[in-house]
Amino acid sequence: MGTGTRTPLVAGNWKMNGALRESRDLVAELAAGVGQGGRAEMLLCPPYVYLAAAARWLEATPIALGAQNLASEVDPGAFTGEVSGAMLADVGCAYVIVGHSERRTLYGETDEQVVAKFRAARTAGLGPILCVGETLEEREEGLTEAVVTRQVNAVLGTLGAGVLASAVVAYEPVWAIGTGRTASPDQAQEVHALIRGLIAAQDATIAAGLRILYGGSVNGGNAAELLAREDIDGGLVGGASLDASQFLTIFQAASG
Ligand code: PEP
Repeated sequence: MGTGTRTPLVAGNWKMNGALRESRDLVAELAAGVGQGGRAEMLLCPPYVYLAAAARWLEATPIALGAQNLASEVDPGAFTGEVSGAMLADVGCAYVIVGHSERRTLYGETDEQVVAKFRAARTAGLGPILCVGETLEEREEGLTEAVVTRQVNAVLGTLGAGVLASAVVAYEPVWAIGTGRTASPDQAQEVHALIRGLIAAQDATIAAGLRILYGGSVNGGNAAELLAREDIDGGLVGGASLDASQFLTIFQAASG
């Protein structure tokens, strides 16, 4: 896994799952299992409405809190249903997922909106987790490199490599999300190296320090071999993050 200078990050994306009591129990199990932490960092991204409660549950733990989305607008105003980066920081979030493929495909988020959300996250002092990844059709047409390059360059070209200093990138092949079909360690490593190379072309120091997570059907059984690869610095985990024992196994693989 990565170089010794990058702290592995294991992030749980709960998506639109859970209920208040169930979420509290899951956090309690994770807090007990994570102990004082390890070499890796654990991050939980519950639905918006549970964030404030989760911040309290996580108070005496080493587990960080993040959100799954944020508004692209920075200033408060008439944006019904939106939640700003400042509000997320206010309730204790340190990170926010930006450009998840479900946002891109189900809600039509464009590269331009993703860049605006990335910028809004940084303005609020949050660490954006920028998600990129190709669909199955794109992979089969040999377009993986072009798609991932376009998505990374949307941020790099508009905001510059400096904005990645406090950010995280997650490579999530769309065909591997929630499907039980994982990219092989070789497939993932190849794209992670591509991403790091794109950033290194602008700023080698930022590229060397950047955490690049893999996401797509990561579970307790496949995490170790993925995380063993040089440019894979952790995981963005959906389904398996709702199961304390699976998520803790992934965390231990990252801490090892
Ligand atoms: C995700 O939602 O980011 C994800 C990777 O989901 P899953 O682990 O369920 O594939």
